[in-house]
Amino acid sequence: MKINLNPNQNPASDADRAAKVAAGGFGKYYTDNLVIAEWSEATGWGDAELRAYGPIAMDPATSVLHYGQEIFEGLKAYSQPDGGVSLFRPEANAERFRKSAIRMALPELANEDFVATVEALVRQDIKWVPQNVGESLYIRPFMIATEVGLGVRPSNHATYVVITTPASAYFNPNKAVTVWISTEYVRAAPGGTGAAKTGGNYAGSLLAQKQAAAEGCDQVVWLDATERKWVEEMGGMNLYFVKGKGADATIFTPKLTGTLLAGITRDSILTVAKDLGYKVVEGMISTDEWRDGIASGEITEIFACGTAAVVSPVGAAKSAQGTWVTGDGNPGPITMQIRETLLGIQHGTIADTHGWNKRVS
Ligand SMILES: *Cc1c(COP(=O)(O)O)cnc(C)c1O
Repeated sequence: MKINLNPNQNPASDADRAAKVAAGGFGKYYTDNLVIAEWSEATGWGDAELRAYGPIAMDPATSVLHYGQEIFEGLKAYSQPDGGVSLFRPEANAERFRKSAIRMALPELANEDFVATVEALVRQDIKWVPQNVGESLYIRPFMIATEVGLGVRPSNHATYVVITTPASAYFNPNKAVTVWISTEYVRAAPGGTGAAKTGGNYAGSLLAQKQAAAEGCDQVVWLDATERKWVEEMGGMNLYFVKGKGADATIFTPKLTGTLLAGITRDSILTVAKDLGYKVVEGMISTDEWRDGIASGEITEIFACGTAAVVSPVGAAKSAQGTWVTGDGNPGPITMQIRETLLGIQHGTIADTHGWNKRVS
């Protein structure tokens, strides 16, 4: 895919950009440029264009607006100690984007085109990458069905776009979150779209998120659709349970059954935890086992993980069955060790022994 560079001729001033980067948060401000490419069934992918960030005009009958045929990704660019910038495992995002496209009957974008377009945009807007550890430039590639018409069928046109936004820590890492275990609503069912990163999964989750907030919780924990007892994920993040303490601890995460989203952070932590000497297990954990593990003291820490927040400690879980506090309710030592290790690798202060960082400058 050729990328035609037609950058914004009116980029933010140094002062404006610095203020926007310093404002932190998540998704408040967008950088000067975007990348866009169009696909049609007849001609395949056209060239990509890097151009000024701005609205995308659409016919009101554009299919994504009606039937939600869309996919997205989330990855980050991190500043490095030498002043350079690295992407964290962009090939893994490219691969997942392709798999999501297949599930949602959208065209596949070659992994190398995904990575090249992301790199081109980050290079162009490199001054927007925040400098502090824990901060990053969040990159949001997405693809939408852009055939005009209300007929229900896989779209014969698609639009691929990449946008970027400076991000500070999504959650406060030092404050554990409280989760609501939803038995009323499910995120994903066997045969459904749970393993694809698609907006509809999120749209369907928002009512449960509202319910969680009404229960005084920060996030929803999803159970399996069939038995409503097996723990799957938390909001848009995967979950980890620490069993035992110290060097003998086991790091446990729900296995990928086809209804979970295969997080790249989840996958990275499987490796990082092993590197740190812990036993790592992927399996099934029921809500009864969660309750009993807390009661007996076997479960010592719980955390969620994803690109946006990296690692987020879970201090307590609330459900119709009661409230289960993890340890003393504060972030645990292994959670913080894994967080610091992964952030260290991403920011280039800890050796990247698995070749995860891809330098863009
Ligand atoms: C994106 C996402 C995750 C986390 O994936 P990462 O690759 O680690 O960012 C987990 N669960 C859901 C539902 C997601 O959409």
